[in-house]
Order: sequence, then structure tokens, then C-alpha cells
Amino acid sequence: MERIDRELINEFEQLINESSKSIVVIPHTNPDGDAMGSVLGLWRVLRNAGHNAKVVSPTKYPEFYHWMDGHDEVIIFSHHPKQSARAIDEADLIICMDFNQLSRLGDMRPLVENFAGKKILVDHHPYPGIFTDLTISNTTFSSTAELIFTVLAPTRFAQYIDKNAATSFFTGLMTDTGSFDFNVANPSTFEVAAELTRLGVNQLSIHSKVYDNYSADRMRLMGFCLSNRMTVFPEYHAAVMYISLEDQKVFNFKTGDNEGFVNMPLSIKGIIFSALFTEKEKYIKASFRSKGSFAVNEVSEKYFNGGGHTNAAGGEYFSSLQEALNQFEKLLPEFEDRILRSVNSDL
Ligand code: 5GP
Ligand code: MN
Repeated sequence: MERIDRELINEFEQLINESSKSIVVIPHTNPDGDAMGSVLGLWRVLRNAGHNAKVVSPTKYPEFYHWMDGHDEVIIFSHHPKQSARAIDEADLIICMDFNQLSRLGDMRPLVENFAGKKILVDHHPYPGIFTDLTISNTTFSSTAELIFTVLAPTRFAQYIDKNAATSFFTGLMTDTGSFDFNVANPSTFEVAAELTRLGVNQLSIHSKVYDNYSADRMRLMGFCLSNRMTVFPEYHAAVMYISLEDQKVFNFKTGDNEGFVNMPLSIKGIIFSALFTEKEKYIKASFRSKGSFAVNEVSEKYFNGGGHTNAAGGEYFSSLQEALNQFEKLLPEFEDRILRSVNSDL
């Protein structure tokens, strides 16, 4: 069975063919491995196909992705707003990837919202907002990287997926599945991984560049958080961790240093629901993970101005760290039945 409607793929190809001049590819704010892997992979394919492609990111992204092909050319809106505006202004087409609501663009939103040319969305999150001319949205894909590869494969662009592009796509696939640990119910994910391997990607090298590239400070922060910042609620099969601004100062915190922390409590026997609150200057960044059917995007949407997938969600909480922790503890009884159902039936 075709996973993506052939008509959508034709339309995708046609919109790009019509935009022979300039195309800007855009990830969400604080892009993760899938967002950067998808945009840089597609950017490379478009470049190889002779388009004037650029990547404009709303904010910077972690240093452990700075080795990726095209990194040097990414324009960061929060650092270079004028250059970003010019790139978007000069474009015929913009392609948004790995998010499905304009709000995920942060302060860059008006540039995309008011853009006069054509827009495409390629994403794998539930409940897409319709703000583009073409929406390719499918939640059955592990990652946007797997989705864009599947879209490109039957088109003329397939010939332009070189080792660099394949490496970027593999990075997206690897990071959004936690190295093939979750979001891998569909066998097609492994078929795409196999195709990317045939294109020459070196999985061990990618894994090492992403996961063996942390600072000593980050490892010490991780140990500190596990010892001093984690509370376990065994009766609710839940755990919560937090990182204050003060903690960040002590451990010389850099963007991405908390990546993966939220997954760690899920290794505790019986824990299927995990939360991490990271204090920012203006709000609290919330991250949620779960195992089984328990849908953390519902928690995030209802209480933390966010959303995401069933097993991985996030949001922003506009109050104090203490309030966020209180809110979390308060919501546990409301979700107890759903948590228990997940524990009893799925795992
Ligand atoms: P993370 O916890 O890694 O930041 O985010 C996990 C997932 O939650 C992301 O892939 C994304 O789908 C979603 N997410 C994270 N932050 C937000 C947010 O502020 N708003 C929404 N709608 N989704 C978010
Ligand atoms: Mn993703």
C-alpha cells in the first residue's frame, strides 16, 4: 500500500519545479536532530538538483549537530534577522519541516505567515494546522527525515540523494527513534534505514558524532540531576526532573546539554511517564516522554501550551519552576487511569 498519496508527491515535485530560482527550507525553533537532518538533507538534494536553496532556522541548534553537511550555510534568524528576512523575501517557495503550527516558529512567524510565494509543509506530528499550499503530513512515519526520503524516492530528485543528504536523513531518523529504540513499529522505517545505508551512510560515525560528543560539564549535570533533581512517583509510574537557571550556571550549560535527560527515568522499572522542566529566562520548557498508549501530547496540550506525539511531547509554561512542578504533581491523579491502562495492557 502506498503510504503517501501519489498526487501529493506529484504536487510536491511540481511546486519545486516551478520554483526554479530560490527555495528556503525551515525547521522549528530549537531544532532537534530530525528537524536539522530533514532540512539539511533536503537542502543538499535541492542544491544538487540545481536550485538556489537556503536553510533559515528560527534559532540555533546544539553543537553536536554542527558537523552536518551544510551547517556552515544555515542562517540563524535569532542572530541574523535581516539576512533571514532577505533570504525569505527573495525566495519563490518555502518548505517547512518537522512542525505543523506557525507558533513553533517563535519570533520568525511573521516572515513565514506574510510570505507571498508558495509554501509546503512536510511533517509527522498529529493535528496539522493548515497554513501552506501543500501539506504532506503523516503520523505513521518515525521522523520527518523518513517521510521526506519516502517522498523524494519516487521522484526525479532521487538521483540527487547523495551520501551527504543520506547522512543528514539518517541523523534525523536515528535521533527521532532514539537509535531505533522507539517510533519503530513500522517496518518501513528499517527499509528506509537500509536504503540510506546503501547510499553510503556510516551509522557508527553518525552515532558517535551525535552521542559521544558531550562536554564533561554536561555529564556532571546529568549526574547531578539524577541525584538531586529527580522525584519518582511509583504509584503513578511517573518521574519528574528539573534544571533551574542556577543549575545551568553552575554546570556551564549550553544549548542541547539537557537532550536525552527526559528519557532516563523511563529506564527505572515500572516508570512509563517522565517529565523534565528546564527553566528559561522567560518561561519553563517542558518535555514529556511515555511508554505504551499513554499519550503525553494530551498532557502537554492541556497544561503546558504544547503538543507533540503520543510518546514524546513538549510545551512552554509561563510561570515559575515551582509552579510547573506543582502543576505536574497535581495532574497525576487525573491521568492515573490512562497511565495504569498503559502499564497493564501495553508493556
Ligand atoms: P522535546 O521534549 O524533545 O523538546 O520535544 C518532543 C516533541 O514534543 C517534539 O518532537 C515536538 O513534537 C513536541 N514539542 C516540543 N516542544 C513543543 C512546543 O513548545 N509546542 C508543541 N506544540 N510541541 C512541542
Ligand atoms: Mn521529528
